[in-house]
Amino acid sequence: MIIGKGKPIKNILAMIENCSKIIVAGCRGCVTVCSAGGEKEVGILSAALSLARETDGKPIEIKEVTLERQCDPEYLETIRSFVDEYEAVVSIACGAGVQFMAEKFRKIPMYPGIDTNFIGVTETQGVWTERCQACGDCKLHITGGICPISRCAKSLLNGPCGGSSKGKCEVNPEVDCGWQLIYDRLKELGKLDQLEIIIPINDWSTGRDGGPRKIIREDLTL
Ligand code: SF4
Ligand code: SF4
Repeated sequence: MIIGKGKPIKNILAMIENCSKIIVAGCRGCVTVCSAGGEKEVGILSAALSLARETDGKPIEIKEVTLERQCDPEYLETIRSFVDEYEAVVSIACGAGVQFMAEKFRKIPMYPGIDTNFIGVTETQGVWTERCQACGDCKLHITGGICPISRCAKSLLNGPCGGSSKGKCEVNPEVDCGWQLIYDRLKELGKLDQLEIIIPINDWSTGRDGGPRKIIREDLTL
């Protein structure tokens, strides 16, 4: 899932300093699971913003909404009837959700209330770690199910770099060397010969026409 973390309240207060009536919009997708932007966080952020503005002598009206997903047009329509009555929206969805809201509701500013960090997993309660950088050409079948791009500090496609010590990364001795993990896993699987495979340089281009990457599934389009 996409992992995010709330922005400092002072940063959000600065974004809305000239507003007297805003929406705080959450999302029930990934950001709910990682406790950054769900219904509960909408309530907490709204209360904190209200309190801060009361204290400053500039009270603010806040409408709280939580959409099923902010990255899906059908759910954005659920707020269309009233969104223009407000001066701004603070969205605590991921960056994709904030941008999609900004595209669909063009008359009012859309402000990000969280920082979107990475695609990752829940290690234990309250701890999330990165697993994927959405490279567009997954190599996990070669690397024993461990991503060389997100797990190696240098994102080496053909590691290791030779600097690891006792299984730890030379860049950060607190973390496991990604290529040590790949080696150990391939050994477990009896597939160490896969280390001989040269993984070609990744194509990070956005396509011949430039712009953001796009996926079109003909079987799903109308
Ligand atoms: S190789 Fe790594 S970054 Fe690329 S898609 Fe697979 S998990 Fe994601
Ligand atoms: S020590 Fe391992 S994880 Fe760190 S940069 Fe080198 S190969 Fe990558």
